[in-house]
Amino acid sequence: MNDIKAAIRTIPDYPKPGILFRDVTTLLGDARAFRAAIDAMIAPHAGAKIDKVAGIEARGFILGGAIAHQLSIGFVPIRKKGKLPFDTIGQSYELEYGTDEVEMHTDAIKPRERVLLVDDLIATGGTAEAAVKLLRRAKAQVEGASFIIDLPDLGGAGRIRAMDVPVATLVAFE
Ligand code: IMP
Repeated sequence: MNDIKAAIRTIPDYPKPGILFRDVTTLLGDARAFRAAIDAMIAPHAGAKIDKVAGIEARGFILGGAIAHQLSIGFVPIRKKGKLPFDTIGQSYELEYGTDEVEMHTDAIKPRERVLLVDDLIATGGTAEAAVKLLRRAKAQVEGASFIIDLPDLGGAGRIRAMDVPVATLVAFE
């Protein structure tokens, strides 16, 4: 996990002053670290039977696509409002200031399909919680969630575990 952590770049004051942005593009560009991260995101859920990976826009698409390929299963994009071309269901969630909404195609999931949720980072857990609610409204069984980075001070992983979803994170930044 040290190699994975070392491959993540930190950008101070992005996108706003005072924020330390954890940038996984450097990890994605490093073949060994990228593969190690994908394998480590899959391993904790090895006991679960998974039918589909759902990835949260945008870095969750890259990670989720690689995981879906590795597991030979399908991929479902969970996108910001207004980006998907077919019929959608949406789930709004609170931000520090205001609200946002994620959407998924109505036919992306069949009832009782077992889904692994994927994103690069979990902070407050608001985005992931909205994604779990969306998947459950589509009658998916959310078998687990994997993130490369946890910001434990913000409590997001605990929030998703409280929804009875097993959560795996690879590295933490305090
Ligand atoms: P949350 O909803 O507060 O858990 O925020 C998580 C979402 O914001 C994820 O989709 C992340 O990709 C994004 N995010 C928040 N902070 C960072 C960061 O430092 N680096 C990369 N993505 C971040």
